Amino acid sequence: MAFSDIKGQDFAVRYLQSAIRKKRIPPTLLFVGKSGVGKFLTAITFAKALNCKEKEFDSCDRCESCVAIQNGVHPNVKVVGRKEKKISIDDVRGIIGSSFVPLKNGFKVNIMDSADKSTVQAFNSMLKYLEEPPENTVNILIAKNEDTIPETIRSRAVKVKFNPLGAKTIQRILTERGVESEKAYLISHVANGSMEEAERLLNDEVLQSRKEFIGTLLMFLKNEKTVPELVSKWDALHSDLTDRESAERFFDTLYETVNDILLVTVLREKENIVNIDFLGEIAERFFIIRKSALERIFDIISAEKKALLTNANARYIMMDGIFRVKEVIR
Ligand SMILES: [Zn+2]
Repeated sequence: MAFSDIKGQDFAVRYLQSAIRKKRIPPTLLFVGKSGVGKFLTAITFAKALNCKEKEFDSCDRCESCVAIQNGVHPNVKVVGRKEKKISIDDVRGIIGSSFVPLKNGFKVNIMDSADKSTVQAFNSMLKYLEEPPENTVNILIAKNEDTIPETIRSRAVKVKFNPLGAKTIQRILTERGVESEKAYLISHVANGSMEEAERLLNDEVLQSRKEFIGTLLMFLKNEKTVPELVSKWDALHSDLTDRESAERFFDTLYETVNDILLVTVLREKENIVNIDFLGEIAERFFIIRKSALERIFDIISAEKKALLTNANARYIMMDGIFRVKEVIR
């Protein structure tokens, strides 16, 4: 993949290409943005471009070096935290150890995916390494939430922000892949800026469960469904997630849905809502909810998301949030 194939991240791509052109590569980069917007893809493309044998400022995707990076066997490029979705101290030690491997006229690139999920020991070890980075080395930390990365590390990194993908961008990618236009239109809204989510929703079963959940959530917000009814629909939709991931995702989905209600009923804006397939229902049946109630729900979401950063019991926080919302709408 070349830089020009990365969709919807013009700012990040332009910045990285110009860093290569000017030969000014920051020793530590922090890629921040929600999941599924191209952070990892961009990091790999950047690693290829820095080591490519054919092109000076881009990846050719064909030379020996680009192919080795793609296959995860290039000696200069190390990826950790990809599968495990967290970084351990052993991962950091692996990076530090391998940085003494002689470079073949290239750039050493360490990609630390899910850096925001590192253990405390891993952060400490990382910090020592980042304080005195070796020459011709770039460390790329990838994170959804920069607040969970210690300030001591953040202050050493150049932040590169990745925006949620626009609905039009997702729709274009899906249509190019042969997805029929009506489905592509629906998913491009429902995925809310994440290509990863869009891919999940291509599965008809997932798409159907999501529809059932949003239907239940809307009824819950009108006080027509109980807490257990809501939770069981949610658990059916996200049985593969850990409690923490599930709670994070729940509050995001709740936020999107309440925001849709606000956009349609108060701001009279219909084009940019996430749950586009429920537009009619929201427009017809949600004028009964007051703006102040919606704002109280936003406050609850933001407080519970903050609590999630520090509290170990994610399931408890999710349930607490749901009961507090129930109080507001009762
Ligand atoms: Zn190449």
